[in-house]
Amino acid sequence: MSAVSQDPPFLSVVVPVYNEEESLAPMHAALLAALEPWGKPFEVIYVDDGSRDGSFEVLRQLCSDPRFKAVRFRRNFGQTAAMAAGFEHARGEVICPIDADLQNDPTDIPKLVAKLDEGFDLVAGIREKRQDKALTVVIPSRIANKIIARVTGVALKDNGCTLKAFRAEVLHDVRLYGEAHRFIAAFAAMAGARITQMPVQHHARRWGQSKYNLSKTFRVVLDLITVRFLLAYATKPTYFFGRFAFGCFGLGSASLLWTLFNKFAMGIFVKDQPLFLVGIFFLLSGLHLLLFGLLAELNMRTYYESQGKPTYFVRERLNVVAPARV
Ligand code: UDP
Ligand code: MG
Repeated sequence: MSAVSQDPPFLSVVVPVYNEEESLAPMHAALLAALEPWGKPFEVIYVDDGSRDGSFEVLRQLCSDPRFKAVRFRRNFGQTAAMAAGFEHARGEVICPIDADLQNDPTDIPKLVAKLDEGFDLVAGIREKRQDKALTVVIPSRIANKIIARVTGVALKDNGCTLKAFRAEVLHDVRLYGEAHRFIAAFAAMAGARITQMPVQHHARRWGQSKYNLSKTFRVVLDLITVRFLLAYATKPTYFFGRFAFGCFGLGSASLLWTLFNKFAMGIFVKDQPLFLVGIFFLLSGLHLLLFGLLAELNMRTYYESQGKPTYFVRERLNVVAPARV
């Protein structure tokens, strides 16, 4: 194994790799050409996400330079897991994820990092001239971005662009699940990060093929619901479930009152009124939702307290040190 250098670099570039054997050497050359003249200490962490081609053999050769590192998964865990692993191994104060297929351009990395210095915690790339199939990729992704902006309240134009730059501390307490690498900016916003975006280049894929198809849209939608829930209600789930519970109680009570009114004022037997059953259905649903919220509340407390997780994020401290956590 190659030596691991002692000084942490300034920048950690994280590259998820899944069956990209032809792209890796040109990608490597492009990274070197972009980062060496820039002059700041960097490391590149390739995460081989269980490739079945010769990707890892290529990486083994590329890692003879100790600034280049590789982590190899036992099997394919997905791009999100690959990126999360890269972030956890990264030692730089700034982290920059980028695709391995040269669709993102490494020459944009110094530009994104320079933008961070203007006082931002995260700079997201926008693929303005996107070189992907219009009908199945670009248009669904535009719609998805609009919905994501609405739901998360973070108005990013291009959530799916892997190329971003952010301060490592922004993701310190964030775990990425599912397809959630698309929501890095939303999570960062949740932790109070200052976010901006800028156009980056985008090229057509020259080697290998895209790992995604339309089915990822459904996963993204489900993740979006989770993200929305976490953003708004992670520390107060009873409020979320409670709202629906009260809605159900309201509808249920109204139905039952209407049934009673019909019975006493109009003389219609309760057994002849379907609304009676509807009322009972709503009352029971409301009760369940309320209890659900209480269970979620227990769960949430276990989550935060067993792991010593803070329910807040601190940007700076003056004259005090961070409290020790369990
Ligand atoms: N990737 C990965 N694991 C996967 C799928 C993709 O690590 O299960 C990597 C892939 O090698 C590439 C990046 O994630 O570096 C983006 O994938 P791709 O280019 O296929 O996505 P597209 O650009 O078509 O959206
Ligand atoms: Mg690609």
